[in-house]
Amino acid sequence: MQNNETTFPVFKSEKATATVRGYIGKEAESFDSGLNGGSFDPRNKLVIGYTILYQDDRIASIRFSEQKRHAGQPTELATRFMTLDLGSGRELAFKDLFVKTEGFGSLLYDYFKQDHGNDLSIAQQFGLLKLTPENIHQFWVEPGYIGFMLNFQNPTESQDQKRMSIAGTVLSGSVKPEYITAKKGDTPLPVAYIVSSKPKPADEIDPNGKMIALTFDDGPGPFTDRVLDVLKQYHAHATFFMIGRQVGGRATTVNRVVTEGNEIGNHSWDHVSLPTIGQPRLTQEILDTQRAIQAATGGYTPILMRPPYGAVNPAVQNYLTSQGLRTALWTADTQDWRHQDNSQSTYAAIMGAANDGQVILVHDIHQASVEAVERAVPELRQQGYQLVTMSELERYR
Ligand code: ZN
Repeated sequence: MQNNETTFPVFKSEKATATVRGYIGKEAESFDSGLNGGSFDPRNKLVIGYTILYQDDRIASIRFSEQKRHAGQPTELATRFMTLDLGSGRELAFKDLFVKTEGFGSLLYDYFKQDHGNDLSIAQQFGLLKLTPENIHQFWVEPGYIGFMLNFQNPTESQDQKRMSIAGTVLSGSVKPEYITAKKGDTPLPVAYIVSSKPKPADEIDPNGKMIALTFDDGPGPFTDRVLDVLKQYHAHATFFMIGRQVGGRATTVNRVVTEGNEIGNHSWDHVSLPTIGQPRLTQEILDTQRAIQAATGGYTPILMRPPYGAVNPAVQNYLTSQGLRTALWTADTQDWRHQDNSQSTYAAIMGAANDGQVILVHDIHQASVEAVERAVPELRQQGYQLVTMSELERYR
């Protein structure tokens, strides 16, 4: 295994995640096997990152960007699009989007003729007319559009392709209605499906071992990176319930939270008590925070909501559910905010609460709390606790 850095989305659908994982594994394998001999050279490097272009409760469209560097050679860049059916977990082929594939070429012909009519030679026009969905290998769904790679000067050629986007409405009648998506701005926030951008191997968590979920509220703040450092050092993970208005200024830290395998939850934009505000403000508090987190991380969408002060009512609860958010409270409150000059009390509170299945509340905005965590994490690991995210704890307990 060479020096590889891959991040990829993990979906609630395990089958969809397996498809993504399979693709990443294959890329890593083919990269390694292209190294003739395989002796380790730190200059060999494969980097795969991703962007979620679209997701709803049925499909997700992902763009992977790959950088491959073999020692002494220029870096190769590649892009790979993948659209998944989240029900079956299968990667969709372009033709799967269609109710009827005949007429696709003439549809494209009409569409491009409007822009390029006079530039297209007769041969190119015939090429377009002959094109079928089976000829398109790289495609994606984006809000309001379906995109694909095409060399429309030479439509059956796989080299020199450019990105094309066609408004979904142009394709209605040919494409199944579920793939014709609303335009940006008209879309409700997608149902949250990504839970982590750096999945752990399934065997990393022992379901029968003791586990605790540490949760950090009210960040991100100036000490959040220190929490991440100690988690990383001790192979531990945690959940960070973030205040939306603090996310934009600390995007690097926020992105680090997920790339290191931790979870982010929503803690509202402004830390207000949600039952005391009306629906318009509630929508803003929740969705602005989701969007800020998505923007900082390239698409990570929280599925957990910790209401400030733990306050909810049925209306708030219904709204959160409609946005794909589950309420995530705690079982042990360290009350760390009461003793911000005394890390010993918080350390003692964490250790006192330590027990299998506990969800422990700490605030990563207080220096003393972070110092307590820096002492508690090694100690908890020493005692045999697995420190897991809340979603992981919910999966096993
Ligand atoms: Zn709070």
